[in-house]
Amino acid sequence: MANLREQVDVDETTQTTEAGDSPPRYAYCHWHKGLSGSAVLVQIIEQQSGPGASLYACAPCRQTYGLRPVGEAA
Ligand SMILES: [Zn+2]
Repeated sequence: MANLREQVDVDETTQTTEAGDSPPRYAYCHWHKGLSGSAVLVQIIEQQSGPGASLYACAPCRQTYGLRPVGEAA
């Protein structure tokens, strides 16, 4: 039941400024081909000619396809 309390606390208690500081950034996930708030830039290195491609992938797709966010060291 601890989860219930946390969800209630997060909901509209300390959020006095709405649509101001850090709005959710939706990015296009190239794997499920749709917008996702959890999409981040991932590095794809499967091209033999070139440095590879940088695409966005959301969290579920990163787990499914084993993708790593850019900047994540090893
Ligand atoms: Zn996705």
